[in-house]
Amino acid sequence: MNLRPETEAVHNAAIDPASGAIVAPIVLSTTFEYETTGREREADELIYTRYQNPNRAALEASLAKLERGAVAHAISSGSAAMLTIFQALEPGDHVVSSDDMYFGIRVQLNEFFAPWGLETTYVDMSDLKAVRAAMRPETKLVILESPTNPMIRLADIAAIAEIAQESGALLLVDNTVATPAAQNPIALGADIVVMSLTKYIAGHHDVLGGVIIFAQEDKFAERVMRLVRIGGSVLSPMNSWLAARGLQSLSYRVRAHSENALQVACFLAEHPKIERVLYPHHPSHPQYELALRQMRVGSGLMSVLVKGGRQGAIDLVNRLKLFTSATSFGGTHSLIEHRESIEESSSTPPNLLRVSIGLEHPADLIADLQQALA
Ligand code: PLP
Repeated sequence: MNLRPETEAVHNAAIDPASGAIVAPIVLSTTFEYETTGREREADELIYTRYQNPNRAALEASLAKLERGAVAHAISSGSAAMLTIFQALEPGDHVVSSDDMYFGIRVQLNEFFAPWGLETTYVDMSDLKAVRAAMRPETKLVILESPTNPMIRLADIAAIAEIAQESGALLLVDNTVATPAAQNPIALGADIVVMSLTKYIAGHHDVLGGVIIFAQEDKFAERVMRLVRIGGSVLSPMNSWLAARGLQSLSYRVRAHSENALQVACFLAEHPKIERVLYPHHPSHPQYELALRQMRVGSGLMSVLVKGGRQGAIDLVNRLKLFTSATSFGGTHSLIEHRESIEESSSTPPNLLRVSIGLEHPADLIADLQQALA
């Protein structure tokens, strides 16, 4: 039966054959009894939790299916996922990367991988000519976020997949902000999807995790799997279980985050004390048409440029009552953050606030913003 993603997300978790439990037990055992035959073990045989664990295997199978990939590896954080990908490249390889992205990934590339011999060219992924011009014979990987964190810029995933393919490079899309509830990069031609599970997938501000999903089980995917298992940065059984639980309600949560966010964006865009709102599904977004074409919903993340400069933005955060001044996004609680203060060597505008719209009633969120802006 061809099931829709909402149905699949609920029914992906198999009934436990031992007990009939419809909620999977958490398997904490680090080691598993196996038959001594003298032959080599298969990749998914249960032997030792660093290699595989039932909770991690179940989460990986659900994530691969949801993102239309062939195989997924759940790992200790979104950052560890990217680190592992870079480790799987060779010194002398070249990466073309989005010039706006989660700053920690830029730090990995500049501080650790550049001295090791991995060169990166940063480009504005909304400029397809610039992407094409940045490609070299030794380019192995193109990485992009869409929408980006924190400038909420979009990239035309299908068009960039074509450019990468023509040059023999792999396209990796960080789908953390959009999630598979809004867009499926592999269906648009991407080779690899990475997500921080810490955000919308787990969804409740209580799990740190990441995932790497491959469109195909090729040599590079195999090398990454070996790095995850031999290196050991795997996701724990408890966090795998929590992320798998989050996955069951992902579509409905992201839909609600998106509906709330659009209402808040519409309110802020009209407010005289706000210079600009950056939200994909708001008509003022410069790539609104691409956003409607590529994203089924706008997700819950936006950035706001406040009139009154840096201090105006900081003062607004401190007058809010329902929005918590905290980093991260994608959870139940609405969060707000003066982004320049947290990013290392930031080029983010000093009056930018990154806002994660939670699952509160949007009217309450708007009332709080109204009082804080009064
Ligand atoms: N990718 C994006 C788009 C992010 O925003 C973040 C973190 O904020 C990460 C990756 C890193 O994820 P984690 O915090 O799980 O390491």
